[in-house]
Amino acid sequence: MQPTGTSPCPNWCISLHLDGDTLHHGETLALQLTRRPTQGERRFRPDLPAMPITLELVTHQDAGETTPWIAVLHEGTPVLDLAAGSASSLGDALQGFAADTAI
Ligand SMILES: [Zn+2]
Repeated sequence: MQPTGTSPCPNWCISLHLDGDTLHHGETLALQLTRRPTQGERRFRPDLPAMPITLELVTHQDAGETTPWIAVLHEGTPVLDLAAGSASSLGDALQGFAADTAI
């Protein structure tokens, strides 16, 4: 932990907390994934192939908060912002669903 002026940093925090910034945040993990085209995208092009998508994951917590959050962003815009336990549940469920599709 490192002092931030307002509270000690969690061990995952990489923020320099310049100018009184109180938001703890970890490193961003960029995930290169493949997504299905949306229904709208397939409306006039039903043969549209799967598309690449990059999602960014980052842990964050304001100094006034008691628990961390895990944000899922697309092009810098939050898509989901989950409590750490919920992020873990989502990860487990996705892994289970994906495992069920394995031949
Ligand atoms: Zn911090």
